[in-house]
Amino acid sequence: MSTHNNFDPSRRAFLGATVGGTALSIAGLPSQALARINAPHPHEKLKETTEVFGFCDMCYWRCGLKIRSRDERAVKIEGNPEHPNNWGVVCAKGNSGLMVAYAPNRLKYPMKRVGERGAGEWKRISWDEALDTVAKELKKIKEKYGPQALAMIGHGTWEKPYHRLAHAFGTPNTTSPVFGLCCGPRGLSNVMVTGRNLTGNETIDLENCKYFLMMGRNVTESLHNGETLGWINGVANGAKVVYFDPRYTITASKADEYYAIRPLTDHAFLLAMIHVVVNEALYDKKFVAEQTVGFEELKKRVQKYTPEWAESITDVPAEVIPRIAREMAAKAPSVFVYAPRRLTRSANDLGTGLSITILNTLFGVWDRKGGVFSPIKFEVPEIDLPKFKHAHLAKRIETGGDFDYSGDVPQAHIVDEKGQFQRADGAGVMGRWPLANAQYGLTNEMWKAMAEQKPYPIKMLMTAGGNGFLNSTDYKTIRQALMNLDFYVAADVMPNEMNMYADIILPEASYLERYDDLQTGGAKEGYVAVRMPAMKPLHDTRDAWTICKQIAERADLGQYFPHDSIKELIEERLKKAGHSLAEIEKKGIIKVPADPKENFRGEQGIPSVFPTPSGKAELVPSILKMMKFDDALDYVEQVRPDEDEFHFTFARIGFHTHARTQDNIFTAEFMPENLLWIHPEAANKRGIKDGDLVKVTVRDGRSEQIKVKVTLRIRKDTVFMVHGYGHFDKRMTTAYNKGASDSNLASSAQEPRVGSISMGQSLVKVEKV
Ligand code: SF4
Repeated sequence: MSTHNNFDPSRRAFLGATVGGTALSIAGLPSQALARINAPHPHEKLKETTEVFGFCDMCYWRCGLKIRSRDERAVKIEGNPEHPNNWGVVCAKGNSGLMVAYAPNRLKYPMKRVGERGAGEWKRISWDEALDTVAKELKKIKEKYGPQALAMIGHGTWEKPYHRLAHAFGTPNTTSPVFGLCCGPRGLSNVMVTGRNLTGNETIDLENCKYFLMMGRNVTESLHNGETLGWINGVANGAKVVYFDPRYTITASKADEYYAIRPLTDHAFLLAMIHVVVNEALYDKKFVAEQTVGFEELKKRVQKYTPEWAESITDVPAEVIPRIAREMAAKAPSVFVYAPRRLTRSANDLGTGLSITILNTLFGVWDRKGGVFSPIKFEVPEIDLPKFKHAHLAKRIETGGDFDYSGDVPQAHIVDEKGQFQRADGAGVMGRWPLANAQYGLTNEMWKAMAEQKPYPIKMLMTAGGNGFLNSTDYKTIRQALMNLDFYVAADVMPNEMNMYADIILPEASYLERYDDLQTGGAKEGYVAVRMPAMKPLHDTRDAWTICKQIAERADLGQYFPHDSIKELIEERLKKAGHSLAEIEKKGIIKVPADPKENFRGEQGIPSVFPTPSGKAELVPSILKMMKFDDALDYVEQVRPDEDEFHFTFARIGFHTHARTQDNIFTAEFMPENLLWIHPEAANKRGIKDGDLVKVTVRDGRSEQIKVKVTLRIRKDTVFMVHGYGHFDKRMTTAYNKGASDSNLASSAQEPRVGSISMGQSLVKVEKV
């Protein structure tokens, strides 16, 4: 204990003395001691931090990160200034990544279900027991039904080893929501017209664009750093922004012109735009003559789509359309018709996507400054892993798009290892959904196949991340699918409604705690980036590669995972590319410089590369005609609400990623619950006031309760809510029961040619509770 003579001036020592020794009252303290209590803390002497590099996993843009660690704990997330996806910037979601690793609700150790399926009753088990059980169930399923009875659904960067495991097992039934629930019709449209896929990290020359025609692309709220920064720079450089959305978003507030277009009718507006561009000869004549086919047929097809016709459907004044077309033509090719990020909404998403790509093509944007650039590729060969009996490795296209249509990928992914069973979701299967991408499949159709056990029994499910309930639209089908299974194993970092139904839960290390496969991308410069662990895995968790390898070994598939670790695998990949792990770990990224000649071939007069059947951009795609789907180019009537109904809409917000981040205690602070936006006139008519609780009911009877935000920022015939709320898993203690689920209200109708969901077709009634 300190004495008066050798008094330790630190507050800690003083309080220690009072607690452990003489019990002094505050009033009785000597003045010197009181002064010490009121003094500020001396500067803490914290240890220096170390820096490691990674790439973000909080959304799918994958910004480069620089993570600070102390005592083997990540303490701060910053952006990697070298990374072309974000140039050092990290958004609110990205910053909240620390609260994935440190989340109190994390899945902390392997567990097995002990109560009824879905009841959420668990028992902790060892990794050995968990992995042995999964391997045993895999063998049992194969023996009883065949390998096709396994479905694998992934969502995230860590899904790749699970796809590998499933293909090694011999099933063709692997899927990810990126196609059927999100970007499918958009990517497909790009590919049909140009052979190039503008999804994923879009290769738009945003900084130099002079005119953005934004079809609901809410780039400031559904945001990705590099894209949003590029767009802001473009606007700062003088680009005009014309924005269409039934809701006045933050992006609308930054636009030069805003039009509250009727929901689901973008296609009508775009067709009228094409009508004007071709009739007034506003297109890039040299480009169209030399690098496209199908112009005359397109011209004939759009004659009926006049601006006056479009006005009657869209509420966009007829006189506006030719003016926008002329303004764009004056700025072309530095213009861009911007598709929404997710194009799974209307009864003709394919036609909407096609119109966007056709307009961009008529304006000759490909490989031109301010239009679309060609990315530089950084070639990092895949390693020579044993080939699957039935398919090649499901791979993410390295540049310019989320899914790959090249070569034999679609065919390779539609049959099981014996060639007897085609994909259960029908993706790529003639007579079912031949246009759907067979690499990522139709997640919506896979759930249906499991629920109906058609076209054949699917009895085992493996999931890697994702949440079938809140990223889709049909709770009944998903619940039925999960209840039909003999066995369900879920690997994830966080609990959610879907993995609540698992028989075994495999807790994964978060993206801050592990190596992962390399990130190879294409921006104006080419790059390969590394994800290094910034901390030791917390709890009893393991990384995805290790989990899959350890299952594979137990299921007699060990030859498909020959490396001891993912670190060893990426070391070998880098070596094949002439680099090393030590080299990439210095800055987190290795780049090849941008090359304006390659990025903007058109500026040099060099023709663009369009890998279509004709080798040119096809204004009426030959593949559509061949498959007799060319009526997709025509307008299809959309659902309209009755007098007492509304169009139901939902969207993302800047600080949440889908339904993944509502339980994150950092992001939850921003918006604890979502609200239903409704126009004041519509609210008054129903006696609804701001903050009232209302019931929202879909025609099919599904309903949710939610508080109301009365606002002029939405059309009178439309209501809106932020996506991802209304969680019903009690393990998610932050998000549980907060707000309402848009997924439980959205439509499950399907795009008739693609098979993707058309979520925007729900019509709802709203009444005060
Ligand atoms: S935009 Fe934000 S959440 Fe998405 S990858 Fe970048 S930092 Fe992460």
